[in-house]
Amino acid sequence: MRQKGSLGWLKHDLTHRGPTAWLLTLGLFAFYFILYYGGRTLAGVAIPDLFTPIARALHLPSKWTFYGLLYTLAIAIGGAYVIYKYRHNRYQVIRTSVVIFVQATLAFSVPWILTIFEQPEYYFSYLWPLKMEYFYPSTILAMPLPFILFSLLGSLIMVPLLGIFFGKRWYCSWVCGCGGLANTAGEPFRHLSNKSSKAWAFEKWSIHITLFLSLVTTAFVIASWGVGENYPAFSEQAASLRSLYGFVVATLLSGIIGVALYPVGGTRVWCRYFCPMAAILGLVQKFGRYRIRVKDNMCISCGMCSTYCEMGIDVRAYAQRNQDFVRASCVGCGICAEVCPRGVLRLENRWRRDPQELSMDALLNETYRG
Ligand code: SF4
Ligand code: SF4
Ligand code: SF4
Repeated sequence: MRQKGSLGWLKHDLTHRGPTAWLLTLGLFAFYFILYYGGRTLAGVAIPDLFTPIARALHLPSKWTFYGLLYTLAIAIGGAYVIYKYRHNRYQVIRTSVVIFVQATLAFSVPWILTIFEQPEYYFSYLWPLKMEYFYPSTILAMPLPFILFSLLGSLIMVPLLGIFFGKRWYCSWVCGCGGLANTAGEPFRHLSNKSSKAWAFEKWSIHITLFLSLVTTAFVIASWGVGENYPAFSEQAASLRSLYGFVVATLLSGIIGVALYPVGGTRVWCRYFCPMAAILGLVQKFGRYRIRVKDNMCISCGMCSTYCEMGIDVRAYAQRNQDFVRASCVGCGICAEVCPRGVLRLENRWRRDPQELSMDALLNETYRG
């Protein structure tokens, strides 16, 4: 419902794709464009580097540290708002506090402190394929052994194992900074996700294509390191592929489009359509313990769960059919359960059992909870 007064109008306009929302998107595009290309000349036009002088004035080592500071502040301020908004919900309060903590430490302070001690800038909260370079031989050779082991074991063992036990949510809703920003500063825009079946069809293709590209790029870069001196043409191709992936996926889709589209396309455009880590975790999630449990015959079809699902999942359709579900794209944010006025939905980590047992369990729950 729209609040009265000019502030109410502004809030509604900003969160319902009004002119101010489009202006904010344009502003974010400009911000990211200057961040990435400031100081360079593109097509004969010199792009001003606005952020390096600010970083220097603040005694920060680079514009990227300044950006990290802004990102952390956005998560901290947005997180405080989310904690206040969902203060009665323990899951949301703890989850958001962890998100702020992880961003402030593992994704900001620790990498910065490492550089002060002349160590490589290493992000413990990001793993391959989000951080592609952690599997590139040139990066591996420049890192201390504990970092190399963490990258390899974290990506190949920890991510899938925790994904089986806790689904995608342990990473996408508790650790990853991209999800962290979406679920804090992006909270007012979560309802803007595209709910159409076309979006779902696109998502299934786009996310697996990005995963395929990340695998091919990694394989090419590793292979070119192995045979590079003997096959310089192959090395050149691998280097081009690496730069292309870096530009299209890491810069354009994850950095620029991923955040700039918040006010008009919702908060999880990158996560939903392009993140290669999401593709891996989604596949694991389908076979793991995580699911959303639906209480039988409780749904009143109000549609709040579907409206506020940031991944565009039609939660209501499952609830109407009294059907527990696991969707590869679900990031386990828990907001569908939070906004449901009838307490129909519950996020669970339990091995699936046979349907008979499920309905008996639902019956018992109904009986004892009234
Ligand atoms: S989908 Fe990808 S970018 Fe988004 S929170 Fe998960 S791992 Fe991070
Ligand atoms: S289904 Fe629920 S828990 Fe999953 S992403 Fe949507 S709102 Fe979040
Ligand atoms: S919010 Fe609850 S009651 Fe409303 S449609 Fe979803 S599951 Fe049904």
